[in-house]
Order: sequence, then C-alpha cells, then structure tokens
Amino acid sequence: MTDYVPIRARLMVTTEESPGLATLHLKVQSETPFTFQFGQFNMLSMFGIGEIPISIMGWQDGLLMHTIRAVGRVSTAMIGMQKDQELGLRGPFGKGWPLEKFEGRDLVFITAGLGCAPVVAAINYAVAHRNRYRRIVILQGVKHHNDLLWQPKYDAWRTMGDCQVLLAASEESKRKHHWKLGLVTALLDDAEFDPRHCAVMICGPEIMMLAAMPFLQKHQVRDEDIYLSMERNFQCGMGACGHCQIGPHFVCRDGPVFHYPDVKPWLGVKGF
Ligand SMILES: Cc1cc2nc3c(=O)[nH]c(=O)nc-3n(C[C@H](O)[C@H](O)[C@H](O)COP(=O)(O)OP(=O)(O)OC[C@H]3O[C@@H](n4cnc5c(N)ncnc54)[C@H](O)[C@@H]3O)c2cc1C
Repeated sequence: MTDYVPIRARLMVTTEESPGLATLHLKVQSETPFTFQFGQFNMLSMFGIGEIPISIMGWQDGLLMHTIRAVGRVSTAMIGMQKDQELGLRGPFGKGWPLEKFEGRDLVFITAGLGCAPVVAAINYAVAHRNRYRRIVILQGVKHHNDLLWQPKYDAWRTMGDCQVLLAASEESKRKHHWKLGLVTALLDDAEFDPRHCAVMICGPEIMMLAAMPFLQKHQVRDEDIYLSMERNFQCGMGACGHCQIGPHFVCRDGPVFHYPDVKPWLGVKGF
C-alpha cells in the first residue's frame, strides 16, 4: 500500500452501539500485518461515495475496529454496509498517544461527547497492560446519561483496582447513581491522582479542552504532561490539502494527538 492507494478491507461484523452509531469489524486484505498506534486514524472510502478520516478503535481476533457515527453521506453509507462488502483503507495516519512514554505514571483520561474512540482505545490498551501504569482515572461527560456508550466497559473499569471512573451529564435525569450534574470539567475536583507523575489525555470539543486547562493548572498539572486529540475536517490525511492547519501544524500529519505545549498558542484561536 502507498499513502495514496487504498487497500481493501472486508466487513465481517457490524455491532450497533446506539441508533446511528456502529462499530465495524474489518478484515484488512493485505499481505503485510496492519500495525498502528492508539490515537491514529485511517482514511476509509466507500467506492463511488467518498472518503473520510476515522480513528482506530482497536484490533480484536484479527479484525480492525472502527466506530462510526452517521452524520452525512459517507458515514451513513458506511454503517449501512452489508457483511462481506468491501471498503477502501489508507493508513494508519498521524500520531497516536505516546503510551509507552507514560509507563509508571498515573493516567488521566478526560473526554466529552458521544463516545470518543481515541480515548476508549487508549483506555483499553492501558487496561490490557495494567501493570505498566499506576492509577487510572477516567472522566467522561455527556449531555444525558443515556448518551453514554459502552456502559458495561465503564462499569468494569470502575470495579478494577486503582481505577476511578467519574461521569457527568449536563442534563438532569432520574438516574443519579455515579453521576454528577454538570460538565466533565466539574469532575476534575473529585479526581484523585498524582499531578507530579501523571499523563493527561483529553479528547472532545476544543472548548472543553480549553475549559479543562484552568482546573488542571489548579491541580498543579504541568503543561508538558497534557496531550490532546484534536479533530478537524480534512480531505487528504497527509498534510497536502491544508484544511486542518493549526498554527504551523497539520492535524492529519502532526496530530491528531498533540503535546499540549505544541498547540497551546493556537487552541481556540479563530481562523486556525
Ligand atoms: C482525525 C479524525 C478522526 C475521526 N474519527 C472519527 C471516528 O472515530 N468516528 C466517527 O464517527 N467520526 C470520526 N471523525 C469525524 C468524521 O471524519 C466525519 O464525521 C466524517 O468526515 C463525516 O463525513 P460524511 O461524508 O459522513 O459527512 P458530510 O456529509 O461530509 O458532513 C456532515 C456534517 O459533518 C461535518 N463534518 C464533516 N467532517 C467533519 C469532521 N472531520 N469534523 C467535524 N465535522 C465534520 C460537515 O461539515 C457536515 O456538517 C474523525 C475526524 C477526524 C478528523
């Protein structure tokens, strides 16, 4: 495969996660093993329809997993694929979470929105390599508690040793157990981790990232221990189309996972 020519991937199983959101389990049709870092993405194409960037959710039983929300032309066609139908795949692209660098530290995951694939993939990795990390803290914010995907995963993580799972919903609901009313940032004051030996991974809307920073600073977390997974609309995945530029960086080529100090000056700045 070259960066330009897609290889084929065959749909083996579709798991419906919620209405309009599904995980595709794909058999990559390639002689060479498909290797990736958690946090990287693939450019997936529906022949005759279009191509879109989608984060890698994981690899299980020889199949590559992508969780896709139907928002438009290509994504809707993808989650409607039939078993054995093929799509095109270029990738993996971009930079993932430097999880090996984080060994021996507390891991703090902050995510908002309806299922953040890059963070869930990284949590799965940390759980699978539990002895390499110290405490795991997972903070997830959603609009309504019904919006939380992969509820069983969160329940299992909560009962795992030395793991704290805190959930927030911005809309009031009857189910209060384990839930705080408010934004994900409201959970930061309850999070218990060692700010001097931690790695914080954030994924979600940029406005949430910006809102999280004062809380992290208050808890003495250093900028150099913070990593962000950014999302921008782009076409190529290789730094050619220029649509995803953020300051001197391209989200597709230099991200989507960024070291916070590298993008700090441009975060939330209009026009970038
Ligand atoms: C690095 C990266 C990783 C991503 N990972 C995932 C993932 O794991 N799962 C997933 O469901 N989606 C993911 N996305 C978003 C996904 O690429 C878009 O939803 C997709 O491009 C929409 O294409 P479409 O043809 O279905 O919709 P379109 O018909 O092109 O657009 C529908 C609407 O979505 C908006 N839109 C299109 N692309 C984006 C985008 N990239 N960001 C924000 N809004 C957009 C359009 O402006 C329009 O309003 C990722 C995006 C990036 C950049």
